[in-house]
Amino acid sequence: MKKPVILVVDDDPQVLAAVRRDLRSRYREQYSVLGASSGDEALSTIRELKSRGDDLALIISDQRMPGMAGHEVLARSRGVYPAARRVLLTAYADIDAAVNAINQAQLDYYLAKPWQPPEEHLFPVVDDQLDTWLAECLPEATGLRLVGHQWSPHSHAIKSFLAASLIPYRWLDIERESDARALVEAAGVGTDDLPVLVFEDGSVLRSPEPRQVAERLGRSLSAASDLYDLVIVGAGPAGLAAAVYGASEGLRTLLLDCLAPGGQAGSSSHIENYLGFPAGVSGAELTRRALMQARRLGAECLAPLEVAGVKIDAGYKRLTLADGRELVTRTLVAATGMIYREHEAPGMAEYAGAGVYYGAATTEAPVLSGRRVIVVGGGNSAGQGAMYLARFAAEVRIVVRRASLGETMSHYLVEQIDKTPNIRVVFRTEVERVEGGRHVERVTLRSVDDGSSRVEESDAVFVFIGARPRSDWLPAAVLRDQKGFVLTGRDVLAAEGHAKAWKEAREPLLLETSVPGVFAAGDVRAGAMNRVASAVGEGSMTVRLVHEYLART
Ligand SMILES: Cc1cc2nc3c(=O)[nH]c(=O)nc-3n(C[C@H](O)[C@H](O)[C@H](O)COP(=O)(O)OP(=O)(O)OC[C@H]3O[C@@H](n4cnc5c(N)ncnc54)[C@H](O)[C@@H]3O)c2cc1C
Repeated sequence: MKKPVILVVDDDPQVLAAVRRDLRSRYREQYSVLGASSGDEALSTIRELKSRGDDLALIISDQRMPGMAGHEVLARSRGVYPAARRVLLTAYADIDAAVNAINQAQLDYYLAKPWQPPEEHLFPVVDDQLDTWLAECLPEATGLRLVGHQWSPHSHAIKSFLAASLIPYRWLDIERESDARALVEAAGVGTDDLPVLVFEDGSVLRSPEPRQVAERLGRSLSAASDLYDLVIVGAGPAGLAAAVYGASEGLRTLLLDCLAPGGQAGSSSHIENYLGFPAGVSGAELTRRALMQARRLGAECLAPLEVAGVKIDAGYKRLTLADGRELVTRTLVAATGMIYREHEAPGMAEYAGAGVYYGAATTEAPVLSGRRVIVVGGGNSAGQGAMYLARFAAEVRIVVRRASLGETMSHYLVEQIDKTPNIRVVFRTEVERVEGGRHVERVTLRSVDDGSSRVEESDAVFVFIGARPRSDWLPAAVLRDQKGFVLTGRDVLAAEGHAKAWKEAREPLLLETSVPGVFAAGDVRAGAMNRVASAVGEGSMTVRLVHEYLART
């Protein structure tokens, strides 16, 4: 099998030879390391690789080159290999230029010259970039393949599960790819059994549910202990942070998620504002790192496992799982976040998973190559979704009720959207109806000013219109505000009915709910900041409060 390619671009022959030599010394078993001495040569190599059907994993380009600067080479390569990782090589004096280029050309990283010793400065960066590429992009003909109908809600559910679980797979549309038909015929699978998962050893799972996939991939869904010090429900940023701190501080810690680790942040294509990642970080990469860290420190992480209810039993918390099993813990952190609100326009429910998607840009974007899509919403998640979709779709329209994006979206995203030629923002407008055949084909848009309507052709609608808390699984004794967000700390004492709920002589701890020993962190909590960093901060803080609670009991 052909090896994926790492391409190095530098006009200085000595530097080019040195980077290639260092990269070959470490990566030659798995990757071919090619070189180009100018931007033009690099772009023609990239086109040639594409025409041969080769995989391009990583491009490292020097910034200062005559003719074409490195950031331009990297930006232009995106049209041919959208998933390849892009790293700019700069002299120390050019670091400011590199940081600007990160914004303009959406690079993944910059490396300062000299990179010696490579073990310290080059390999850790390249390892990271290649791990991310491998996690997102499975080389041809290897690993897990999912065959199904592009517009099937069931296929969409399995894609979302695999993507959220960071399981690399190759998607094959039965109607568009001849390989797909050959594969299912060889496996003796009928079209009624789709979607079907084909494993590397040729075995198949027909029309599977996420749980069966997890079990088939050898992921344990059974808790190792009968009793935990800390159970965290929800493995978004808040839950993952609580698991890292809980396990590292010696608590018997279990982390559960009803889908897969990552939460809302895991579905984000590019988080730009999380501390310590100057080039931004994808939600998948952040999740992968956090999960590895939690496991390495000793946290047990099980998914997909849904918590359906909780009973308080003399200080112990008895969790009932959706499959009927029970778990017991001394303390509980609710970190179940939020979920997108359903759009109520006619057709939205009918086409959910068949052209209407809720924040699932990353799983569906690549198959929308060359198509027209609509993004509904004006927040940061909508902006990020639109930027990601614009890498694949021919045209992206962002539909918003307001007259500008500035009030609801971060400045950097508004700037990026302005500079992206295939994104258009349609202001003072809402979606009236979605229509089509087997999948979305047309969307009727209505002006909020004069009520006039017009029909636009569109292959998909991505909805990002606000969210509701996922707190229904908590017992009534855990007080919530009118919208369902969980009250904590002093807010508990200010709530109606608190005297009945809170019987302790002390006040609730900062992130403690109206039930002693039950804490809430992240977006599910009333007053949360709805940011990755604040969710991580709250998740980490809960562990300190858990210790305080345990010390008193
Ligand atoms: C597309 C998108 C882009 C974003 N971009 C940014 C950004 O750039 N910067 C930023 O700071 N913030 C961003 N945000 C916001 C940020 O992701 C959230 O604030 C953050 O994820 C909240 O974390 P959380 O852990 O509280 O909850 P969530 O991330 O919502 O995680 C909750 C988890 O709980 C699980 N769960 C729910 N119910 C149950 C149950 N009953 N049993 C078991 N598990 C359950 C869910 O499956 C989920 O995995 C973005 C959000 C989205 C959607």
